[in-house]
Amino acid sequence: MRLDKVLANMGYGSRKEIKKIIKSGYVTVNNKRIKQPNTHIDEENDTIYINKELVTYKKFIYLMMNKPNSFISATKDGYHKTVIELLDENDRIHAPYPCGRLDIDTEGLLIISNDGDFAHRLTHPKKDVTKTYYVEVDQPLDESDKHAFSQGMELLDGNNNIYKTKPACLELKGSDEPTKAYVTISEGKFHQVKRMFKNVGKTVNYLKRISIGCLKLDESLGLGQYRPLTEEETLLLF
Ligand code: URA
Repeated sequence: MRLDKVLANMGYGSRKEIKKIIKSGYVTVNNKRIKQPNTHIDEENDTIYINKELVTYKKFIYLMMNKPNSFISATKDGYHKTVIELLDENDRIHAPYPCGRLDIDTEGLLIISNDGDFAHRLTHPKKDVTKTYYVEVDQPLDESDKHAFSQGMELLDGNNNIYKTKPACLELKGSDEPTKAYVTISEGKFHQVKRMFKNVGKTVNYLKRISIGCLKLDESLGLGQYRPLTEEETLLLF
């Protein structure tokens, strides 16, 4: 890849800024000063320094987004805005995609990456990765709902076949907020949380994913904001 593109992709500045830095002689590749921004380099194996700072090329990116309502978890859509459109050009260039789906009106934790193996592990039904959601429904919840969730419930799949969900954990927020709860599931069937609540006669008015496995949503991220996962956070999902 071109040297200026590699450095811009890695967030060292805009292409214009990077060109200036390279032309000023601040960049070395394999101990050779390079002043041509369009020099082709082997970004995975060459040793690059900017002003004596080692540049470590990262093949994969792992981002945590606080997904807003009205964006879909896809890379392209002819009608709706996608979560990928919320990314900066420097991140989009890595061709990332959402690892798993949240409904258009669901908010909260979404992982976006370009690492296919990682995405597969995170979303594969057999891997049993737990997901916790904060939920608000239209009617008070009680112990009988907790029991129903804990037993697993029979729902219809897309082909009108009955399947039984795995046991899920419903934690009521408190008696003064009887329509609010946290629910943890370990599978991710289509509209699963909404359909489980429908099954106990409630309609979900608000849904937000707050964790995946041991990884929690960084609540300092506003809706539509995102940041790279730290190394520790990435390891929590591996
Ligand atoms: N379950 C749902 O019903 N919707 C989501 O977006 C995620 C889980």
